[in-house]
Amino acid sequence: MSASIDFRTATYATSAPRLEQCPTDSLREVAFIGRSNAGKSSAINVLTGQRGLARTSKTPGRTQLLNFFTLGEGRYLVDLPGFGYAKVPLEMRNQWQQQLERYLRQRDALQGLVLLMDIRHPFKDTDRAMLDWCVTASLPLHILLTKADKLKQGAAKATLLQCRREVQAFVPLVSVQLFSSLNGSGVDELRATLSRWLSEEAEEDGDGVEGSGP
Ligand code: GDP
Repeated sequence: MSASIDFRTATYATSAPRLEQCPTDSLREVAFIGRSNAGKSSAINVLTGQRGLARTSKTPGRTQLLNFFTLGEGRYLVDLPGFGYAKVPLEMRNQWQQQLERYLRQRDALQGLVLLMDIRHPFKDTDRAMLDWCVTASLPLHILLTKADKLKQGAAKATLLQCRREVQAFVPLVSVQLFSSLNGSGVDELRATLSRWLSEEAEEDGDGVEGSGP
């Protein structure tokens, strides 16, 4: 069983422009990514019950960085801004892409990625690229179909089923849920997934240490 984490304790910790500057005390962390306007800041604010927390990541100059929010005891929530961000000059975009890839590839503490997609425009090219990447890297991916309140219940459900069909070959590595920051629906489901990622220890107890025979 995973302990439930109190996300309301989240506080801004630091912004890291490169992998080398990420906190060194992180044991387990989860990262949020989504195209600009997908509703990522709103989701982080609702998750943590703190209006304006994720605005930190929108402060000019911070949009290209990894933004860390501490949950205490070596746990972090990481906001990855700038993904699919068309307004950023190409050269910066390439640099960002490189740093992002290094982070996703090399960050040992990273347990899983939350990908946010506007329910009205799911699986844009960048989202698909991220899905492929996670599957190839065996990194757990949890997809939020955001702004679910924008669709009637039946239409939202139909989109959810359609999206689940698209990823069914990758279950349980990939999961999908409805989410609305406006009315809070889906927040408990998100908290449950994140709590699991942030508190699972079983897998580290046995097979985590290479070459450590009796
Ligand atoms: P970000 O760029 O991904 O951080 O997106 P924001 O969180 O800033 O949201 C972009 C826009 O979508 C804002 O105008 C939000 O008010 C709106 N928005 C975000 N989440 C929801 C939601 O769940 N429902 C509705 N109706 N609007 C939302």
